[in-house]
Amino acid sequence: MEIAKMNHPNDAIKCEVNTCYYYMKGDHCAASKIEVQHKNAHTSAETDCATFKLQA
Ligand code: SF4
Repeated sequence: MEIAKMNHPNDAIKCEVNTCYYYMKGDHCAASKIEVQHKNAHTSAETDCATFKLQA
C-alpha cells in the first residue's frame, strides 16, 4: 500500500535516513505512518523501517 507523504513532519518520528523519499531536513519523517520490521528481533540493529523508499 502506498503511504502518503505529508507536507509536514510526523512529529512522532526522528529519522536520519536522508536518502529516503519520506525524509525531511532536520531528521524528520513525512510519512503519514511507518512500518517497522522484523518479528523476533533481539536488538535495535535487527529492526528496520519497511516504509523506506529510495528518493528518486
Ligand atoms: S519512511 Fe522510514 S526511513 Fe523513510 S524517513 Fe520515514 S522513518 Fe525514515
